[in-house]
This record gives sequence, structure tokens and C-alpha cells, in this order.
Amino acid sequence: MSAPNKSPAKPPAHAAASEPVKPSNFLRQVIETDLADGTYAGRQWAGSPGDAAHHAAGLADPAKVRMRFPPEPNGYLHIGHAKSIWLNFSLAQEYGGVCHLRFDDTSPEKEEQEYVDAIRDAIEWLGYETYLADRPSAPGTMQPHEYFASNYFDFMYRAAEYLIEAGLAYVDEQTPDQMRINRGDFNTPGTNSPFRARTPDENLARFREMRDGQLADGAAILRAKIDMASPNINLRDPALYRIRRATHHNTGDKWCIYPMYTYAHPIEDALEQITHSICTLEFEDQRPFYDWLLDRLAEGGLIASPHPRQYEFARLNVTHVITSKRKLRQLVEEGHVDGWDDPRMPTLAGLRRRGYTPEALKLFCERSGVTKSGGWIDYASLEAALRDTLDPIAPRAMAVLDPVKLVITNWDELMGTGFLDDCSAPLNPHAPEAGRRQFKLGRDVWIERTDYEEVQPKGFFRLFPGNKVRLKYGHVIECIGGTKDAAGRLVEVQARLVPDTKSGTPGADAVKVKGNITWVAVADALQAEVRLYERLFAAEKPGSGELLDELNKDSLVTCSAFVEPSLDGAKDGGAGFQFERHGYFVVDAKADAASGRVFNRAAGMKDSWGK
Ligand code: ATP
Ligand code: MG
Repeated sequence: MSAPNKSPAKPPAHAAASEPVKPSNFLRQVIETDLADGTYAGRQWAGSPGDAAHHAAGLADPAKVRMRFPPEPNGYLHIGHAKSIWLNFSLAQEYGGVCHLRFDDTSPEKEEQEYVDAIRDAIEWLGYETYLADRPSAPGTMQPHEYFASNYFDFMYRAAEYLIEAGLAYVDEQTPDQMRINRGDFNTPGTNSPFRARTPDENLARFREMRDGQLADGAAILRAKIDMASPNINLRDPALYRIRRATHHNTGDKWCIYPMYTYAHPIEDALEQITHSICTLEFEDQRPFYDWLLDRLAEGGLIASPHPRQYEFARLNVTHVITSKRKLRQLVEEGHVDGWDDPRMPTLAGLRRRGYTPEALKLFCERSGVTKSGGWIDYASLEAALRDTLDPIAPRAMAVLDPVKLVITNWDELMGTGFLDDCSAPLNPHAPEAGRRQFKLGRDVWIERTDYEEVQPKGFFRLFPGNKVRLKYGHVIECIGGTKDAAGRLVEVQARLVPDTKSGTPGADAVKVKGNITWVAVADALQAEVRLYERLFAAEKPGSGELLDELNKDSLVTCSAFVEPSLDGAKDGGAGFQFERHGYFVVDAKADAASGRVFNRAAGMKDSWGK
């Protein structure tokens, strides 16, 4: 199989300055080499395959690239997970392989069905077909490649007994304090446990007592027997099983011992015949144990050989964003945001409700690069990816977010009392074939409060007495002045229409203007609530200080706005809309009859943070 040529990713608009993003992707090279060498084509068992063959039976072609995305269902997926999803699913896609969604539910208590459902929703929304496989029982229909780590508990237990019998694992009954002291540190080698010399028979009996609930929580652990003097602390007899009396969402009270993550994860990969197991850099020091464990199990014929290999890449960090499920949960539970899908949350559910599309997120991930050294990606490049994907497709509309009334004083005289002039504009100037939208211009129109100034500030070419501007897609007007209330607040602006200057008519260019302002006619404007979202954290690199002090106090501003009539009946989802001059907006997915018409701003027209 040859790899399709992939054009190098465009450099991000705002890559972290210290870390130039490399266009080439080292993982592609690894996969291409493995495919060329047929590394996994001849995968087989050394001994009698036993249970593992049963797991593998559903996995048709051993030569296929097989990736996995293994979330722990203890929270909603966030933008960091999107990077991992994008990487695993799109590599599988690129090389004609598949990608498994595996719920890494090995630890009891923390996991909940709500999170399982939310994770499924997020993967489906991102739209990766490599997640689907032919359903063997009903050809022509598809089923998701979806797995639960807890379904492998029986196998993991038998693999542990195998390691004990082979003299590769032992039950340690030191206290946690003794274990910690005897582990040593970076400068000091560890010390062997007094329980390390137990015979396999003794260990087996003791391990079964652990399993059968005869020992208290924390009284003993099962450890691999590797090397207490290893320079890699992860190889100093790491823990494989612990006693924990807790009800598991899938296995209930069947077990009171649970596998450790570092033991479970390689086994999950091996049983699913994963070829390339991609994780973030924190796990680099775990790789020797990953290989040690799978080498031993392959020697014993419990898993196929060659076994999967682990590859690490730098995790995604985005400025002004937190990517820790624990901290995100804190924001939800303490009510600092309105749930996991609050449009300010960096969760996929939140980004989706905010107006992000799968295409924008994938472009962002691609631009952020796949490297071995970490860095921070500027939040602005997330917004840039949104604009770049939506600009060609989003329908346009005019909206006035901070409305003040403009009265055209000579309208009745020139056009007739109550007359409404038909105006139109392209739905999308990049796609004339998409057609045009229609709206009216009348005597009274809503304009932005900030489009009027009593005295012209430097560089300001919109409304001030004596200046001419165009009402976009309509006529040129000349400003007369404004009226203020007792409190000094602007309540009305007056202007005169300049005759024969309507857009699209021969006279349109007769009068040159420097300002072009957006508006909606009072006669056909629709009322709407517009929610302007900003970065949730003011701190550039949140997570280091006190979380709540780092929040942006102005991350949500709500406007009582007017929008043009083409937005009547607008639905949530898809590419949303570009409100001219204001940015990209979507109908809030949770808006209902009671809340009225609600639009969320996904991003402004340009990056204005800090300005
Ligand atoms: P958290 O700290 O938010 O709980 P996690 O890594 O513990 O994150 P998991 O559910 O275990 O969450 O993650 C599933 C997969 O997503 C893992 O393979 C992990 O490496 C990857 N992942 C998580 N965060 C990021 C990130 N910021 N960038 C890239 N990949 C990530
Ligand atoms: Mg985790």
C-alpha cells in the first residue's frame, strides 16, 4: 500500500514563537515504514492463542493500520482530545485502516454513563468513518469500532496469573510508606522488598486471596518483578493490581482488585491488535514497561507478536485554555460556567455550541503540527481556523448589536411616506450562485451606537455631522446630527438621503464615501439576543495559579440586538452565519420558544484580544 501524498500543512497563523511547527509528521514516516516492511502482516501467536484469539476474531485484516483513541469516561472531551482524535482517526483514514474508540474504564467510581454518551456524540460529530466497521452478522450495515477496557478484566487477571507463574510478578505487602521509601529516587537505586523472594505458588495463593476479598484495601499489591535498581523508576517493580472495594459501572461488584493503568493499557492495545499506539509525551518513560510487559505476554503466547508499539507526541496546549478534565469539572460543579457545553468551555460540546465546526477543528489540529517537543499554540490560531473554514461558506447577514435609531429626515419627501425600498445582498460574495437575500430600507433604521460621533475622532469616517456614508447595499446618507437624553446618552441620529445613490444603480458611484455602515430597517428587523463570547481565561497560560483568579470576568456579554429578516427561522448547526463586520455566529442550540432567538458568537472578524 502506498501512502497518498499529503501536502504539507500550512504554517499556523499564530504558532508559538519558540516552537516552529514542522510540516512533516514523524508518525506518517513510522507507519509508511511498517507498511513497506509488512511489520504487522505476519502477526501471530508464539504458543496457543487462547483468549486473545477470541478478541482478535472480529478484527479481520491483521495487516491493516489499526489506531485507537482511548479516553477515560470521567469527563467531556476537550480541544486537547480533539488533537488526539484527529491524529488517530485521520492517520487510520489516510492509510486505509481503522481507529477504535476505546473507553478506558479500568478504574471504578469516577466513570459515568453521561460521559460515555458525550464522548460518542463528540466522535460522531467530528465525523470519522474509520470509526465504523462492517457488521459481520448483517453484511452491508456498519457498527462502530467501540470497545470497553473493562471487558478485558478476565484476560488481564489471567495474564497476571501467568506472570506470577513465570516468576515475573509478586504480591508485595509492605506498607505504602515502605514501598515509597524502598523505591528510591532519581539519585538512589531502590531496595528489594522483603516479599520479593516469594515463590510463584505463594504469590499465586496470595493473589487469589486478594481477588477473593480476603485482604483489606491497600494491604497488598501485585508488582512486576523487573529491577529495583533500574535508572528508569517506572521499571522498579511497578504495581500491576491493587485492592479497591468499589462498584464498577460495567462489572459491578465482581472485582475487588483492579488493574493499574500502566498494566491495563498495553494489554488493551494488544488485544485489539493495535499497530501504532499514540500517546502524549508524559508516557515516554512508561514505554520501556509497555514493551517489557507485551514482550513477556507474547513469549507466553498470550498475545500476538509483533505487539503494538507506543509513540509519543507533544500534547496540545492552547493559550487562555485549560485542558484538564479535573479543572473543567471544577468550573462546572462550582457554577462558574453554565455546564459542560457552555459555549466558553473548551470542550467539544462547548465549541460546537459556540459555533465551531468539525472542519475548523481539524484544520486547527493539522496546523498545530505533530511534534516531539511541546509548546503553546495561540488561541488566535483556533479562531483563524474557524474564519478560514467559514468565510467561503457561511451565509452573510446584517445585525446591529448595540442599536440606536437613525432617522432619514427627507425620506417621506423623496420616497413617499411609509415607503419601503427593496434592497438585496449576496448570501455569500464568494459564491454568487448561492443567491441573494432581500430586505427593506425605510425612513427609520437601526445602526450601531458606535457608528456615530458628535465630533470626528482621528481616522473615523462613519457618522458625524456633515459626513457622508453608505448604508451598505442601500443609499448614501449625509449625517445631520444626534439627539441625547438628559443623561447624555445618544437616543437618535438624523441624516438626509442623497438621491440617486442606491447600490447597484448607475448613480451609485457618483458620490464617493469613506464609510460603509451596516444597518437593519426598523420595519423588518427581527429582535434577537446575541451572546458575545470571549476567552474564558484572561491568564495566558492558565492552570498554574489560582484557577478562579485566572478567569476572564468579561467572557460573556449579552446584547439586545436587531438582525435582518433573512435570519427568520434560522436553525442551529452547520456553518452558521457571518454577521457583517461582527464575526461568525450560530443559533444557540439550546434556544427555545421561551428564550426567543439567540445567536452565539463563535469568533469576531479579526483577532482583537488585548486591544
Ligand atoms: P485529562 O487530564 O484532561 O483527564 P487525559 O489525558 O487524562 O486528560 P484521557 O481521557 O486519558 O484524558 O485522554 C484520552 C487521550 O487523549 C489520551 O490518549 C491522551 O493522550 C489524549 N489527550 C488528552 N489531552 C490531550 C492534549 N492536550 N493534547 C493531545 N492529546 C491529549
Ligand atoms: Mg487519563
